[in-house]
Amino acid sequence: MLRSPSPSKPPASRAPRRTALVAALATAASLTVPAAAVAAPTAPTAPPGHQRPPAKQPVATGYGGAVSTVDPDASRTALEVLRRGGNAMDAAVAAGATLGVTEPYVAAIGGGGYITYYDARKRRVHAIDGREIAPKRMREDSFIDPATGEPLPFDQAVTSGLGVGVPGTLAQWDLALRRFGTRDLGRLLRPAIRVADRGFVVDREFHEQTALNAARFRDIVPTRELFLPDGRVPAVGSVFRNPDLADTYRELARHGTDRFYEGRLGREIARTVADPPVDPDATRDVRPGLMRPRDLAAYRALVREPTHVSYRGMDVYGMPPSSSGGTTIGESLNILGNFRLDARDPAAALHHYLEATKLAYADRGRYLGDADKVDVPVDELLSPGFARERACLIDPDRAAAAPVAAGSPDGDYRPCVPPGTRTRALAPEGPQTTHLVVADKWGNVASYTLSIEQFGGSGITVPGRGFLLNNQLTDFSFEPPAPGEAPDPNVPGPHKRPRSSMSPTLVLKDGRPKLALGTPGGSTIITTVLQILINRIDLGMDLPAALNAPRATQRNTPRVFAEQPFIDAYGEDLAARGHRLQVFPGPPAGVIGAATGLEILRPGLVQAVAEPTRRGGGSALVVRPVRR
Ligand code: GLU
Repeated sequence: MLRSPSPSKPPASRAPRRTALVAALATAASLTVPAAAVAAPTAPTAPPGHQRPPAKQPVATGYGGAVSTVDPDASRTALEVLRRGGNAMDAAVAAGATLGVTEPYVAAIGGGGYITYYDARKRRVHAIDGREIAPKRMREDSFIDPATGEPLPFDQAVTSGLGVGVPGTLAQWDLALRRFGTRDLGRLLRPAIRVADRGFVVDREFHEQTALNAARFRDIVPTRELFLPDGRVPAVGSVFRNPDLADTYRELARHGTDRFYEGRLGREIARTVADPPVDPDATRDVRPGLMRPRDLAAYRALVREPTHVSYRGMDVYGMPPSSSGGTTIGESLNILGNFRLDARDPAAALHHYLEATKLAYADRGRYLGDADKVDVPVDELLSPGFARERACLIDPDRAAAAPVAAGSPDGDYRPCVPPGTRTRALAPEGPQTTHLVVADKWGNVASYTLSIEQFGGSGITVPGRGFLLNNQLTDFSFEPPAPGEAPDPNVPGPHKRPRSSMSPTLVLKDGRPKLALGTPGGSTIITTVLQILINRIDLGMDLPAALNAPRATQRNTPRVFAEQPFIDAYGEDLAARGHRLQVFPGPPAGVIGAATGLEILRPGLVQAVAEPTRRGGGSALVVRPVRR
């Protein structure tokens, strides 16, 4: 599928993984490291040499192109591509590949994702769907345990072959580069290969994510060998290398992505899913999956029409189904467009925000699924008439009791129609993923969310390949609706894409890109993106403040989950309106999302923004910084 393979390189010697790590640590040990730079190792067994993880800066403003990701290596990769004349799509793909190395628990070629892209030449926004698909053999009761007749416990489905969808990332990169890029994939993989070979410095986030997963990683042999070298969680400040992934990337660079979808690597993936490499001594029940090589061959990434709504004179573009992001953000904005949100009364504005998402989530649960397999009334969900009907249910002084019922996006709208069908309770959705944004000097902008679902995906590494497989199929509903219950558009099915919440978002003003943003966080993604938009557009914050502001999420649940500083600031006012607030349980506890965004301040001048503190903060860079 690659247009032209990159110039051939000598095959990398496949040094045994442990030897490579030991060599890396020896190199690290030989560097002079100031005592203060040694991050406190959390394990007494920390290796002798430590380095300080690279510095991160959350805001950068300047010309020539900009990037924001959660990771300094990935941001530097994108910046390098921009400097050398690549465009925003090239840089987004290169950064995604580097995140596959440095953020292997959230981003990998074993997963999928969504991109929205502003093409400056054609002045159009496109949406590129690289979501995983279910194997052909998947049925609506595939998550029902035949032994009990009950749905599999969520945790058990997560660490299983059954949860693994056919990965979409590589096909998406291929398609994105063919349509919008200027570099071939082989070339764009090179910086990531360098990072995988040389290693990166383990920071607290990587350490903690490994520790969080250690129990299940131990049970899966290739995962243990890769991520728990010598049986231990890599210490903060140590160097982590992934020569297997470097080799896999090299193979893809040389032979193209057909190797993955129709070749040897695809067969290895299908074999791993069908027969997960579980330690014979493990007591964990790791169910096999249904994937076959022909499922990989059937995978297609797709360019879709983005969702679009107008909000306060701006055009907001989002991800259409198979994601629920674009429609749910769009419907919420349409509802909010019926009210004046006053920056002088933030609690009232936030009350409307929480009430709008409550309604939009009811509709999401009832109507959103893979639109290639079920009817999704996208146009009606995004119609101003439907939004008026829904907005009419909002009492400015009083929160509605949640869960509220779904509306009827049927084209026949009257103010304040009584509630329609009750939707199913919010299903668990993994909280981890990553988002990046890139703008280039020509005015192209990429907003890209990529994911393997949970931190650590399925926990299953393809032996000798250096990457984890996703558990994205756990985003399906596990149980078909009972007779008499409303239909569920998100039950599993053959080659169906599970419903996502990922929301790579682009905002245009007067036909030009203004904002790009997104975040991880499972079903909180939608509310986080929305809240940042409201902070920026309605509440008078600049983008760094909008992104940093404390968050709350109302997804049609009886309680509103929020960060503690949000409760401290607005809890009393909102409780007086009937909202029941509680600290977001996580994971990570108390923290909602880890967003990245950018704003085009004026033509050519871009402000890239990352989190200053959530999940260790992110890295914003620009090609030619200006002092502000
Ligand atoms: N699986 C989730 C989705 O597609 C994403 C998980 C996350 O953001 O952490 O919406």
